[in-house]
Amino acid sequence: MSGIKTVSFIGLGQMGRPMAKNLHEAGFRVVGFDASEEARLEAGKSGLIVSNSLEDAIRDSDCIVTMLPNGDIVQDVLVSNDRFLSAHKGALLLEMSSSAPLQTRQLSELVGTHLRVVDAPVSGGVKRAIEGTLTVMAGGSNEDIESSKPVLEVISSKVFSCGPVGAGHAMKSINNYVSGAGVVAASEAVRLGTEFGLEAETIVDVLNASSGKNNATEVKMKQFILNEAFSSGFALGLMSKDIGIAADLAKSLNLNLKNLEETDLMWKRASKEVGGSADHTRMFEFVTTNSDSKN
Ligand code: NAD
Repeated sequence: MSGIKTVSFIGLGQMGRPMAKNLHEAGFRVVGFDASEEARLEAGKSGLIVSNSLEDAIRDSDCIVTMLPNGDIVQDVLVSNDRFLSAHKGALLLEMSSSAPLQTRQLSELVGTHLRVVDAPVSGGVKRAIEGTLTVMAGGSNEDIESSKPVLEVISSKVFSCGPVGAGHAMKSINNYVSGAGVVAASEAVRLGTEFGLEAETIVDVLNASSGKNNATEVKMKQFILNEAFSSGFALGLMSKDIGIAADLAKSLNLNLKNLEETDLMWKRASKEVGGSADHTRMFEFVTTNSDSKN
């Protein structure tokens, strides 16, 4: 292993828990922290050391990993009351939540004299978090990304260096825009085909053997949607947040991207109607309910 021995893992939810468990099993001393007592108890069952205080969790850390719902929460957790100063100077901060790139740059300015910051959001969902095969999109100096690899390579089978701090988070929002638009397209495709009289299963099989295939047709339609399980482990509100980050980024760059704007609005409406904590695969129900022209 590298110079990194102790990893503080902040955010032990659907993604954070299996990621922290893999680091623990790879031989790192992992100290976890989460605001939820239930999440702390669950993580404790995996053999992690769990702390009830953020300051204690990061005190002896060589590397702090944040896997929280969004950048506002990351900033609140680390910057309020200068909590990040409890970590030792020069420790790495791996910001693995899906946060907004410009906010991440601001975070880096706030904590950068004390911590080395790399944004390293992931793609692949809960299944690949458990397998340790997530894709990581990293932003930071080459030197800092290189130092974080012993940790990242336990979590991920593919680490991409995307550019300076913020580049990983920009890339993640772009990925989730394409992914979220794909869920809508696949849902509308099934709605259209079944209305004509095609079988839903046939539609998915043909798409997956043809040029219309996407991540939703391949790993969501049969696995979570057509069987009505709606249990992918990725919340609708989080998907909506990610597409909103991409839409805000486009605005900040004075770009007029119509499909992105429409996709953003659709996920925001679904989040309101279906609920942000519902599984994001329930977008299919939203599409189905709202597709009747009589509505
Ligand atoms: P989650 O809601 O399951 O977990 C978030 C955890 O953060 C919860 O346990 C919650 O208690 C904790 N938390 C919230 N506020 C806190 C605070 N102030 N202090 C300490 N802990 C706090 O979410 P998740 O699905 O694990 O997603 C985490 C991040 O990863 C998000 O940014 C999400 O967009 C991203 N992501 C999720 C997936 C997925 O498939 N679930 C995939 C890729 C990326």
